[in-house]
Amino acid sequence: MHELGIAEELLRAILPQAERHGAKKVTRVTLRVGVLRAVVGENLSFLFGHVARGTIAEGAVLAIEADPVAVCCPACGLRTEADAIVLDCPGCGAGGIGLSGGDDLQIVDFDIDE
Ligand SMILES: [Zn+2]
Repeated sequence: MHELGIAEELLRAILPQAERHGAKKVTRVTLRVGVLRAVVGENLSFLFGHVARGTIAEGAVLAIEADPVAVCCPACGLRTEADAIVLDCPGCGAGGIGLSGGDDLQIVDFDIDE
C-alpha cells in the first residue's frame, strides 16, 4: 500500500509550510495526482487522516485532482487525454503515438486557519 508513503511525504511537505504561514490548522489540501500513479484516493485520504493525527493537519480534507495522460498522434495529429497508457491512437488506430504526463504528484494548494 504505497499510499502510506505518499501520505507521510505530503504531511512532511505541508507542515513546515503551514507553520511558516502561522497556521493554527490546515483545513484542506489540494493535490494533483497522475492517473499512472495508481493512487486510490480514498485510501490516501484515510491514511493522511491517520498520519496527520495530533498535528495541525488533523482533519484536513484531501482534494485530489487527476493528472491525465496526454496522447499525441503523429499520424492524424490527434491530441487527447487518457486515464491509462494507450498503445494505439484512439482516433486512427496508428501505433507509435506520443504519451506524456500522468505521473504528477504534487501539492497544488492548501487552506489554513490562522
Ligand atoms: Zn491518430
